[in-house]
Amino acid sequence: MRESAEITVSIRNLSRSFGAIKAVNHVDLDIYSGEFLTLLGPSGSGKTTVLRIIAGFEKPDEGTIHLGGKDVSQLPPYERDVNTVFQDYALFPHMNVLSNIEYGLRVQRIEKTERKARAEQALEQVRLSGYGDRKPAQLSGGQRQRVALARALVNRPSVLLLDEPLGALDLKLREQMQIELKELQREVGITFIFVTHDQEEALTMSDRIAVFNQGRIEQIGTPREIYENPQSAFVSEFVGQTNKILFEGKRINIRPEFISVSKSKESGDRTLTGLLKDAIFVGASTRFLVDAENGEQVISVKPLEDLSIGDSVILSWESKKEFLA
Ligand code: ADP
Ligand code: MG
Repeated sequence: MRESAEITVSIRNLSRSFGAIKAVNHVDLDIYSGEFLTLLGPSGSGKTTVLRIIAGFEKPDEGTIHLGGKDVSQLPPYERDVNTVFQDYALFPHMNVLSNIEYGLRVQRIEKTERKARAEQALEQVRLSGYGDRKPAQLSGGQRQRVALARALVNRPSVLLLDEPLGALDLKLREQMQIELKELQREVGITFIFVTHDQEEALTMSDRIAVFNQGRIEQIGTPREIYENPQSAFVSEFVGQTNKILFEGKRINIRPEFISVSKSKESGDRTLTGLLKDAIFVGASTRFLVDAENGEQVISVKPLEDLSIGDSVILSWESKKEFLA
């Protein structure tokens, strides 16, 4: 799909240990120019360490980092064409918003008029025009996050590293920022490497997702590939919901939306009968909990007709939608 796209970040055989802990364990990863790439994994799986090594804050024990074709493995952070947005924003509390954003340009000794113009443009990009005079304490959490973003964007890096940048926001604001951030990324065309432990966030925002487990990449692919075709039990359980069912002597794995539930109708080459135990309304869908004949409990979100609790039901699905457990 991206054969002609240029690789911006190339990571080869990257490893980093802390004492006995292998935080990063032989990671290879190519990231394309303009891509939104997410490192997704549980806490402690090595995501932040990979990001810190790309930024140059951490040295690898082994392996190399190329940025724009150049080996930067031995370069200090300020000589790498990347910027980082941290979860805690790290704004200067005594400076106003505009000075916070200009800071990087001031360090680079960029003259005042250009500095101002670029800072104003960055403020506009994060939809905070007119907030330049405020102090960080006079902003909401979401606005502070936007300032942190503007402060990174103003440097026009070729790669932006974001470590759980929405982690401190409440759910509603977080969902809104996910969409805004994705739009902004398309607009500015900068390569984003985004870290999260939230699978829904990763599915919503990413062009591709690299799923981390214990310092390794278990799978890399588009959200659809990862969700519909997980290559390991770990990925299938970490991303999305799944049923693990003992079926004809084998453990299979199947998503709730691929299982139909009905009193009489079937859809697919696999069937299992059971009793409808509960129907739980969760807003956009209803989860049907079925006690199957073989003793398994199965969740379906795909009713083929109206059902009542206590009904004898048939669960059915297509075997090609199963994956290994
Ligand atoms: P994640 O960002 O996925 O939560 P990290 O990269 O922060 O994971 O950490 C990976 C592992 O390395 C964890 O077990 C963590 O405790 C350990 N680790 C990370 N940084 C350090 C450090 N500076 N000193 C000791 N252990 C560390
Ligand atoms: Mg982390």
